[in-house]
Amino acid sequence: MDKQVDVVVVGAGPVGLLLAIELKLGGADVMVLERLTAPNLGIKAPSVGPLGAEALQRRGMGSALAEAEDRTFAAMEPAGVEMRARTFSFRGHFALLPIRSDAEREPERRMRWVDQQGLEAILGERAAALDIEVRRGCSAPGGISPFSRSDPMRSPNGACAGSTSRAWR
Ligand SMILES: Cc1cc2nc3c(=O)[nH]c(=O)nc-3n(C[C@H](O)[C@H](O)[C@H](O)COP(=O)(O)OP(=O)(O)OC[C@H]3O[C@@H](n4cnc5c(N)ncnc54)[C@H](O)[C@@H]3O)c2cc1C
Repeated sequence: MDKQVDVVVVGAGPVGLLLAIELKLGGADVMVLERLTAPNLGIKAPSVGPLGAEALQRRGMGSALAEAEDRTFAAMEPAGVEMRARTFSFRGHFALLPIRSDAEREPERRMRWVDQQGLEAILGERAAALDIEVRRGCSAPGGISPFSRSDPMRSPNGACAGSTSRAWR
């Protein structure tokens, strides 16, 4: 299979997916390569910080974020965890520095209890809606470093072998 795009983004984590969305909205033809064949279910982030949530809202993903947060609350309720109460007392952190609720001037800005898998699902759906191909099972050589457009990519079935681009993330 061969495909010519303006930018190949390596990695379908939150950063790669959002970058691909931004590039597409900016007019670039883009695709994403991900070495894993399925979403990573390992424990990663349990929440999205206030500024990240705001950025997603600006890009029209606010309601999807709210729905995903509601699912988090619903899942925790049987265990008696008062997630909604915690949400409004704990304002989140920036680089692990707690955001003080008494210094908060914009209370609508808050972290969202959406875990990384939930966030990747939201971004993946948005990418699909924008017709961005996320090709799984493709390992780009040299990690995320730029390399020659003629370098081959590896995949178990050769599905990535002919992909080329003018730029790499
Ligand atoms: C326990 C834990 C708790 C955390 N809590 C929070 C939190 O509360 N809030 C928060 O904001 N952050 C949190 N983080 C950090 C957050 O998980 C990372 O900041 C986030 O994963 C970074 O996103 P990313 O897309 O850059 O990288 P990743 O999520 O690591 O995604 C990179 C992707 O690139 C793929 N890839 C890598 N190399 C290649 C290659 N050569 N070819 C093809 N694909 C490749 C990988 O398979 C992966 O899917 C936490 C992390 C951990 C581990």
